[in-house]
Amino acid sequence: MESKVIIFLGPPGAGKGTQAERLARQEQLLKVSTGDILRDHVARGTELGQQVEPILAAGQLVPDHILVALIRDRLASMDSVRVIFDGFPRTTAQAQALDLLLEELGAPVTAAPLLEVPDEVLIQRIVDRGLQAAAEGQEVRADDNEVVGRRRLEVYHQMTQPLIDYYAGRGHLRRIDGVGSPDEVYSRILASL
Ligand code: ADP
Repeated sequence: MESKVIIFLGPPGAGKGTQAERLARQEQLLKVSTGDILRDHVARGTELGQQVEPILAAGQLVPDHILVALIRDRLASMDSVRVIFDGFPRTTAQAQALDLLLEELGAPVTAAPLLEVPDEVLIQRIVDRGLQAAAEGQEVRADDNEVVGRRRLEVYHQMTQPLIDYYAGRGHLRRIDGVGSPDEVYSRILASL
């Protein structure tokens, strides 16, 4: 099958995971969520999990080399590269490393949709997600609260926002209004691709 590489960009709480999941199902792509992968390591108590647990809880970024190694392993096991990234890359160094990997695999970036949502809406969503998980008796993410949520947003603006220019400069960026129901946002994503 033809290769396809979609990179979901956007701040924490923008809905990348939900939308990426839907698109992955429809387009038969593998969704690679680095947050999920890291949380899984924490839950299983692996060596990596023990190393990154305090970093996730503080809303800081895990070192680039760890993420790049994780992604290299995922891509190496694929026959044809058909993937949606959710939460990766998050720094310019990660984006450059990903470009090198994709070049080796002969699978260029297809598009980079950016879900745009104002900061105050994001904080509200993050806090609500934490409260809802607690109310449903589910495990609450250590970083889904107002204090760490604000820290994650700061880290996003400082470290990840520069990627918007990076992908815009390559013609991959698709700006999408991320405010609205999940169905509305999904239609906008499909229209942009
Ligand atoms: P959100 O986008 O809502 O912040 P994620 O599940 O994508 O949630 O990420 C949760 C945490 O996992 C981040 O705050 C960070 O600590 C870590 N993480 C995930 N992806 C990366 C990445 N590409 N680089 C560095 N750290 C990451």
